[in-house]
Amino acid sequence: MFSDKDIARFANLETPFYYYDLTLLQKTLSDCAAAAKVYNFHVHYAMKANFNPAVLQKIKAVGFGADCVSGGEVNKAIEIGFDKKQVVFAGVGKSDREINAALDHDIFCFNVESVQELEVINELAEKKGKLARVAIRINPNVDAHTHHNITTGLDENKFGVNSWDLTACAETLKKSPNLEFIGVHFHIGSQITNLDVYKNLCVRVNEFAGWFEERGFIVKVLNVGGGLGIDYHNPEQQVPDFAAYFKVFQEFLEVRSNQEVHFELGRALVGQCSSLISKVLYVKNGKKKNFIILDAGMTELMRPALYQAYHKIENISKLALADSVKYDVVGPICESTDCFGKEVELPETLRGDLIALRSTGAYGEVMASHYNLRENIVSVYDTEG
Ligand SMILES: *Cc1c(COP(=O)(O)O)cnc(C)c1O
Repeated sequence: MFSDKDIARFANLETPFYYYDLTLLQKTLSDCAAAAKVYNFHVHYAMKANFNPAVLQKIKAVGFGADCVSGGEVNKAIEIGFDKKQVVFAGVGKSDREINAALDHDIFCFNVESVQELEVINELAEKKGKLARVAIRINPNVDAHTHHNITTGLDENKFGVNSWDLTACAETLKKSPNLEFIGVHFHIGSQITNLDVYKNLCVRVNEFAGWFEERGFIVKVLNVGGGLGIDYHNPEQQVPDFAAYFKVFQEFLEVRSNQEVHFELGRALVGQCSSLISKVLYVKNGKKKNFIILDAGMTELMRPALYQAYHKIENISKLALADSVKYDVVGPICESTDCFGKEVELPETLRGDLIALRSTGAYGEVMASHYNLRENIVSVYDTEG
């Protein structure tokens, strides 16, 4: 909810901008840290969800590690001051340059996604006289029951090592003196709201960890990835139920005394702490449709165009829902998919009204682009945070 003070402040600012509620972020982080601590679970923040420096500083301060998916993210994590012993690096296509940089930083672990990648990391580590810690990212063929564009753990997905390649993986590990195997890694998808999915994942994690142990490997780390979803329809229900989430893993994972359980949460930590604030440029009343044309488009928030994602749309200049009208809410970009919502019920809206697109903290600002030579998107922060 925005206070009258917030709205008065927004009215004096140039739009569009991402508004960050750092107070809410802090509460979310503290809740998550407290819930993880109950079981001694380790949390790495998936940086690709949002790498706004103010956000990263808060996350670092709560003691979480960083989960990176590019050399750029590894460098940024180190620059921000994340402990290198808490930096992990996943990704199906790590370049030699990225691997070398991560080796130079002595990061905690590479989450390796193919046999060939193991060979390359071993070779590059050997040239530097280093030992690279690796976990095998396994594709467990577990259906995340989420949008197909954000599913990552099925046989048809490009991510991870498939079960039929594990024997080759084990052989490569055994003959690679510059690799130290530390455990298994999984990440099956994003915006997962059905916790039963995680029960299925736990069963597979137990099986795969056992598989490595039977072959003489010591599995120290069970990294179960992230993917916990948020409620996009109720942005006011702001903090996800971390206690219920962690409890599933406590109940269904077989964790030995020498083992650590690692998580990589992105969206659940940052999703609700931001809204994209935009202004209505034009209202077009057509015969079949009414359009609201905003000054923000897919160049500022790509999720709706990219995977039909839903963001709650509010006219914050007129909060009462009197005389509601149905509008298609669109951006100014020259693409038909540049649309934030169809048939959205809003109070009758005028040029100059402020529109909030809610729950944009994850995969929002980070996906902004310069298509159509759009300007850099600006961030604004709450005054208490
Ligand atoms: C994106 C990603 C995550 C985080 O996903 P969320 O849905 O934002 O929690 C975790 N691990 C890996 C390897 C990822 O690529």
